[in-house]
Amino acid sequence: MIKNNTDILIYSCPSFKQSRVNNKISNNFKKIYKNNWIINFSKNKKVFVVTYGCQANYRDSEKVVGIFLYAGFKLTDSEKDADIVFVNTCAVREKAEKKVFSYLERLKNKIIIFSGCMAMEEKIVKKIIDKKMSINIVISINNIGKIFFLLKQHIITKKNIVDVNSNFFNVNDERLPNNFNFSNFKAFVNVNYGCDKLCTYCIVPYTRGPEIDRNFKDIIDECRKLADLNYQEIVLIGQNVSSYGIKHDTTFAKLLDEVAKLKIPRIYFLTCHPYDFSLDIIRIMKKHKNILPYLHLPIQSGDDNILKLMGRKYNSQYYLKLVDNIRKIFPDIVLSTDIIIGFPTETDKEFKNTLKIVQQIKFDNIFMFIFSKRHGTPAYNMVDNVSDAVKKNRFQILDSWYMKIIEEKNKKYLNNIYDVLVDGISKKNKNTLEGRLITNKIVHFFGKKSMIGKIIKVKITETHPFFLFGEVFSK
Ligand code: SF4
Repeated sequence: MIKNNTDILIYSCPSFKQSRVNNKISNNFKKIYKNNWIINFSKNKKVFVVTYGCQANYRDSEKVVGIFLYAGFKLTDSEKDADIVFVNTCAVREKAEKKVFSYLERLKNKIIIFSGCMAMEEKIVKKIIDKKMSINIVISINNIGKIFFLLKQHIITKKNIVDVNSNFFNVNDERLPNNFNFSNFKAFVNVNYGCDKLCTYCIVPYTRGPEIDRNFKDIIDECRKLADLNYQEIVLIGQNVSSYGIKHDTTFAKLLDEVAKLKIPRIYFLTCHPYDFSLDIIRIMKKHKNILPYLHLPIQSGDDNILKLMGRKYNSQYYLKLVDNIRKIFPDIVLSTDIIIGFPTETDKEFKNTLKIVQQIKFDNIFMFIFSKRHGTPAYNMVDNVSDAVKKNRFQILDSWYMKIIEEKNKKYLNNIYDVLVDGISKKNKNTLEGRLITNKIVHFFGKKSMIGKIIKVKITETHPFFLFGEVFSK
């Protein structure tokens, strides 16, 4: 233990250097979770888990809930009722960071556990320690097996604790009680963890470490259990699922083929990197009706110089050719992408190359982001000479180009009938339900709550850029 602070027990702090070299797996979680102390302490205690960020974080939160339930805690969906608030954070953008800190400031009289990607950042943990922030336990998600040991230390010593070990273990342990799912009809299934691509702007390879593939059979077994439980949709997730199996004797296409045979009504996957994307994946998508015809393939920029600075390992011609080949095999595929606007040194001409490729490819959905500097990444030290005003202006230009494309593309939905998986009550209007088409397009409609979790027919009556409106169709 490092004893450099009298108010805080510091067991370990994050290290970006360590996080890139270690990927150990522990096998001692049972010793940690189930001891008499935790069994007594957990009685009548409620936990509220709040999650920021991507689907990988949501899946991690499900595992955290599974661990707390296993130890005897109860789950609550209201932070007011909670004794413990577990905050699972995201580090991808600075905006997310600000949101998390403002949330933490509002929490009163709770045991606060801070984890997720922000807890893996050297700068963030230093800030928490230096400012003596009122966070009771800071723990890396990969080290979640130690949570009850740290909780006990906190209760006994009444001191806050920091234990963020950048050694990677436990989260990958198949023996974790990780079969809890927030939804009883839709589940995320991890394919791999971490990333080896090291794009220069991205913090993920440091907060989540090197790529580790799950065992093929373990993934299939998990999917089979979900199929037996009548799950309607599974999403195979990883920072880069397309590289699954490359280090071993298998491929993501083979995995997808086996998962599809389990007859779960809907399957899709996130996210792929164009560099190691194999057309076999598209062939398997075409082969199975239960794999959604939806592919998210981040391009990030349409300019070769910027792509090189981003460390993306492909150029615009490569990406165009890949899309061309994908569409030759699967002409109706729905393609979405990510684009970063205002990467350091991006000129007007370079930005126009992005506009050009967007116009050429006509993506069905674009997730646009203004470049956000992340401490510890190579891009952090690049000269960020694109002003905020220019970045915002480029964002608006790209947005208006995209709006024109999407308005045109959405016309095909009007007056047609689609299978819709009903996700729940609409976030926009409590009187309507929200679901998704097989193209992953969101649709709102009036319907009964009993439809939630089911696949029903909906006729599209209105189109809007980001969603559709429809009515339940019955013959
Ligand atoms: S592929 Fe690039 S952007 Fe995606 S997680 Fe890996 S490093 Fe980050």
